[in-house]
Amino acid sequence: TVDYPIKKIRSNFPILNKMINKYPLTYLDNAATTQKPDVVIESQAYYYRNECSSAHRSVHSLSTLSTDYMEKTRLYVANFINASKSEEIVFVKGTTDAINLIANSWGRNFINYGDNILISEMEHHSNILPWQILAKEKNIKLNYIPLLYDGSLNLTKLSTLIDHRTRLVSITHMSNVVGIINPLIEIINIVHTKSNAIILIDGAQGIAHQLVDVQKLNCDFYVFSGHKIYAPSGIGIMYGKSELLKKMKPWIVGGGIVKDVSLTQNATFIDSPWKFESGSSNVSGIVALRNAIKYVNSIGIENIFRHETQLMSYTRHMLLKKNLNLMLYNKNNKSSSMIAFNFKLHNSYDIGTLLNQYGIAIRTGHHCAIPLMNHFKVSGMCRASFAMYTNTEDIDRFIDGLIRIQNLFI
Ligand code: PMP
Repeated sequence: TVDYPIKKIRSNFPILNKMINKYPLTYLDNAATTQKPDVVIESQAYYYRNECSSAHRSVHSLSTLSTDYMEKTRLYVANFINASKSEEIVFVKGTTDAINLIANSWGRNFINYGDNILISEMEHHSNILPWQILAKEKNIKLNYIPLLYDGSLNLTKLSTLIDHRTRLVSITHMSNVVGIINPLIEIINIVHTKSNAIILIDGAQGIAHQLVDVQKLNCDFYVFSGHKIYAPSGIGIMYGKSELLKKMKPWIVGGGIVKDVSLTQNATFIDSPWKFESGSSNVSGIVALRNAIKYVNSIGIENIFRHETQLMSYTRHMLLKKNLNLMLYNKNNKSSSMIAFNFKLHNSYDIGTLLNQYGIAIRTGHHCAIPLMNHFKVSGMCRASFAMYTNTEDIDRFIDGLIRIQNLFI
């Protein structure tokens, strides 16, 4: 739209000026990781130049400042996803870390033989493997919501897969391959009418494109990685309802989480969320995460999503106009920020390598979603994914690159 400040946004991301192979960088691998604006980069550098210290440890000025940053960010993130209190926000390394924490803490202690877990065939490996390991260890059944031909969840099968022994349902907010946004409210309602299952939402992809309201969703856990929402890698969030967090045991144990330790007795732990944050915290990441979310808020998630959806319709229009004969895997999914495709029978790595010669960065391979690849009967796909700073010039260069490749093969 006319009032979307694309020029200003692009000027805030220094990497967008980069040349790759003598071409301007066309960065279309945003679903893997997003680039960072100056405010995020500078806030980390400022922290290390002026404020570096260990949070929640000492009484000196700098340490108190770091503690303050952590707790203020906790509140800021709670507001961002509308958690009812900041104690429901746990700092983790990222989505993978959070799901493993939930599987190993909540899962190990509250899921037992005879129970079952439900996930879906579209999940990222991070939301499959922890459950497969737990299921094997505890001899519990792991069920999968099957997919329709276009890769969306077959929701008519959902209620038959849930029973009173379903203890956990873990679903992605948005597919990292085909970009489908799952109807979470509908799914969660079905789950709640049929069971008392705990609901975990993998927000790794959803968080940068959709407004999240965990109270409205009524999910039990919502987890995401900072690096997919313009913050650095190594910092992420696990939201959990406070009554659940209170019941859970720490998983990674060590410094900073105990009331008492002795050589002979069991240790006693501090309250949640802090009992899940053992070891020295990634304070610079936490500072930068707050700045990243502030930046996103200054543009507005809904505006970002509208911009990306418009770019998607422009992309589809150009693909048709230029007669580019791609195998598109998410044809029906109009409101998406990514396209997944193959180019005739060519290997995705070959297409990715050729596009890279023109400075175009896309994702290739199995996207850490091999079951989804199997659904489409391919070993890999190309994926072009958008972010708030993607513009029509990026799309034009991408289309141009594809035309050059098409001509190569004629
Ligand atoms: N789930 C989904 C849907 C993802 O897209 C990703 C990242 N590709 C992850 C989980 C894992 O996130 P991370 O690597 O940041 O832990």
